[in-house]
Amino acid sequence: MSDAAAAALSISDEVAIQIIGMHKWYGDFHVLKDINLTVNRGERIVICGPSGSGKSTMIRCINRLEEHQRGKIIVDDIELTNDLKNIAEIRREVGMVFQHFNLFPHLTVLENCTLAPIWVRKMPKKEADEIGMQYLERVKIPEQADKYPGQLSGGQQQRVAIARSLCMNPRIMLFDEPTSALDPEMISEVLDVMVGLAESGMTMLCVTHEMGFARKVANRVIFMDGGEIIEENEPEEFFNNPQSARTQLFLSQIL
Ligand code: ADP
Ligand code: MG
Repeated sequence: MSDAAAAALSISDEVAIQIIGMHKWYGDFHVLKDINLTVNRGERIVICGPSGSGKSTMIRCINRLEEHQRGKIIVDDIELTNDLKNIAEIRREVGMVFQHFNLFPHLTVLENCTLAPIWVRKMPKKEADEIGMQYLERVKIPEQADKYPGQLSGGQQQRVAIARSLCMNPRIMLFDEPTSALDPEMISEVLDVMVGLAESGMTMLCVTHEMGFARKVANRVIFMDGGEIIEENEPEEFFNNPQSARTQLFLSQIL
């Protein structure tokens, strides 16, 4: 972001996500160990770490695509428990974009965008179409509205996936390696959309190894390894002065 000081000011004291002493197991496998994280509204957090370190599992716990077994996760003042009403409410607040775009292949681009607003939010179709077109313009592909996902490039499909999430008017956006499945020449068109979203003040958690993006957009970088948060810092400090040997090793491998 151009003016780091101004960007930092846009972060409100209001807490968007709070994770307290959270643990998760897959069967006997202890995948997340004592995760503690507070995300204030407007923060842009990049999560990095080796493959298998638990990054996807952690962000999937935030909208309950995975269930944690110990500790607390509180999103927008709602605690994630088995209460289905809470889960539905949190999923309405939290948008998620995956590595593999997960678009519905048999629906057009615009229909992908309007499905949830119409069926979950009970929005009239005309209004949903208008909002859908608005967000397709924002991700710069309004002319693709009537095509099917299979007719689009990977970068275009990922931008549709972002527009589709935004149509639900989320307060928080989670990204899980949104550019990892893309050909190199398409990465920047997706990152540009994410930069725009960050500049609009969206609270964002992004799992990514795009360190240029992290430097430009993140106000905090978190490094995970072995199911733990090993280190976190503002980007300049994180990259220039990593504290733990594991962070140093990771950065030496990817930079
Ligand atoms: P990352 O996103 O950092 O690569 P993941 O959160 O995907 O890591 O996975 C963390 C660990 O949990 C890995 O060892 C992975 O094999 C394991 N794992 C992920 N999903 C499952 C699952 N559904 N069942 C069992 N083990 C899983
Ligand atoms: Mg992952």
